[in-house]
Amino acid sequence: MVNNIVEKIKDWSEKTPNTIFFDEGDTSFSYSDLEKTSHSLAAYLEEKFDNKDGIIVYGGQDSRMIISFLACIKSGHGYIPIDAHTPKERVQMILEESNATCVIALDEWPLEKVGPKIIERTDFNQLIEEEKQPTLGNIVSGEDIFYTIFTSGTTGKPKGVQITYSNLESFCSWMTKEFSLKHGQRFLCQAPFSFDLSVMDLYPALLTGGTLVPMEKKMVESFPLLFGSIPKMALNVWVSTPSLIEICLLNPDFTSEKLPTLENFQFCGEELPHVVAQKLIDRFPNAVIYNTYGPTEATVAITSVPITQNILDNNDRLPLGRVKEDTRLIILNEEGSVLSEGEVGEIIIVGPGISVGYFNNPEKTEEAFFLYEGEAAYRTGDAGLIKDGLLYYKGRLDFQIKWHGYRIELGDIDHHLMMIDEIRNACVVPKYNKNHKVQQLIAYVVCKKMINDDEKETISYLKTHLLESVMDYMVPQRYIFVDTLPLTANGKVDRKFLINEVNK
Ligand code: AMP
Repeated sequence: MVNNIVEKIKDWSEKTPNTIFFDEGDTSFSYSDLEKTSHSLAAYLEEKFDNKDGIIVYGGQDSRMIISFLACIKSGHGYIPIDAHTPKERVQMILEESNATCVIALDEWPLEKVGPKIIERTDFNQLIEEEKQPTLGNIVSGEDIFYTIFTSGTTGKPKGVQITYSNLESFCSWMTKEFSLKHGQRFLCQAPFSFDLSVMDLYPALLTGGTLVPMEKKMVESFPLLFGSIPKMALNVWVSTPSLIEICLLNPDFTSEKLPTLENFQFCGEELPHVVAQKLIDRFPNAVIYNTYGPTEATVAITSVPITQNILDNNDRLPLGRVKEDTRLIILNEEGSVLSEGEVGEIIIVGPGISVGYFNNPEKTEEAFFLYEGEAAYRTGDAGLIKDGLLYYKGRLDFQIKWHGYRIELGDIDHHLMMIDEIRNACVVPKYNKNHKVQQLIAYVVCKKMINDDEKETISYLKTHLLESVMDYMVPQRYIFVDTLPLTANGKVDRKFLINEVNK
C-alpha cells in the first residue's frame, strides 16, 4: 500500500531531522519528532481499533493536531478535524453524524465522556513518548478516506465531505508543482483545521520540508496583536482568505520593505476583490499572488491564476484561473446542456479530486455528485463562465454564502434560530457591498413573544442562544422583527425577495 504523503514526511525526517515542522517557539517539534511521535500514537491506535472508522481530532492551531492526523493515517483511520471554537451542540451533532470510533481531544472535550474512546491531552502526551512502531499494514491509501470535513448543511445538520487519499494526492501533486514552492519555506497556518483551506498550507508545507507558523484566532481578533506578530513570523508563503489579507492591508507597515521574506501569496475560499489584489501588488511588487478556487467537495482548490498587473488592468472581476491538468470544467445550463465559451451556467467539476460524497448521507450525495462520461463529477452550485481557458465567477445559484471565507448555508442559521422557543419563523439574508462581498447578515424574525417587550433585549437573547448551536461567524449582526415573512407561490418563505429588499 502506497502513501506518498507519509513517505515524503519520513524522507524529510531523515534528510532534515532537526527542521521545525510547526513553529511553537521553544517547545517546537522537529520533523524527526513528528515521525517518531506519530509512529508511537499510530501503534497505539492500530492495537486499539481494529477497523477503518474515522477518528475525531479536536483542538486549535497546535502541532499535536498534525501529529494526530498523521497517526490516524498511519493506523488506517481517516481523521475528522473539529476546531476547538466549535459550540458544544455542533460538536455533539458532528459526533453523532460521524460515527467516530475514537476522539483525540487536545483541548478540553466539551461533551460528556460517553460513547467513543476519548484520548485526552495528558494520555496523548504519554502515548507519543512510548516510542512504539506501527505495522503500517492498514495505512490509508488509494480510495480510503483520508479526512472528513464537516460543512454547513441546509437542514441545520453539518455535512461530512469525505476526501480520499487519491483525492488529496491529486491536489498535493498540483500544489507542489505549480505554486512556485521551494524547499524549507515558512508557511502561514491560520485557517482552522476544520476548514479545508488549512489543507492548502498543511500538506504543501510538509511535502516540501517547510515550517508551519501558527496564527491563532485571538491574534486575528486583535489588530495590535496581529500587526505586532506578523513581522516576527518571518513568513515566505501566505495562505489565507482574501478577508484576512484585507485586514492586514489596513496596516501601512504590511509591505515588502517591512516583510522582505514574504514572496508567495495564495488565496482561496471567497472572491478576491480587485481593489485588494491591486493594493497587494502595489505593496509587494515582486511577490507572486495566486487566486485559486474550489469547493471542499473537489479537494480544496482546482483552478489557479497568478494575478499580474496585466490581469488587473483587463478585468473588473478577477478570474479564478485555469483548471488543474487532471481535471475538467463543464458549464451546464438549467436543462443540463453543456454551454459554450463565454456563456454563464453552473460550474461542474470533473476529475480525480472529487469526493466520494457526504458521509452517511446518500440523499445529499446524490443531489450533488454524479458520473460524467464515466468520471466523478460535482455540481458546485456556483455560476460561472470560461473565457480563453480561464474560469470566471458569477455568484451562487443557491443560498450558500461566504462570510470571511467561511461557508454558510443560510438555511442552517434559519433552522437554529427557529429552534429557539420564542421564535415562530426566521429567514436570514446577506447584504452585499459593491465588491460582491457579504457585508452583513440580516435576520428577519417573527417572534411568538419579545423578551420583556424590548427589541434590544430580544436581540441579545437571540444572539446568546444562537451561539450555543452555530459557529460565531454564523450569528447575524442585524435583526428585523416582522409579523409575517413573504411567501413564494409555492408557499415557501421568499428569501430571494428579502435579499432584493436589503440590497436595493
Ligand atoms: P469551501 O467548500 O468552504 O471551500 O467553499 C467553496 C465555495 O467558496 C465555492 O463553491 C465558491 O462559492 C466559493 N469560492 C471559493 N473560492 C473562490 C474564489 N476564488 N472566488 C470566488 N468564490 C470562491
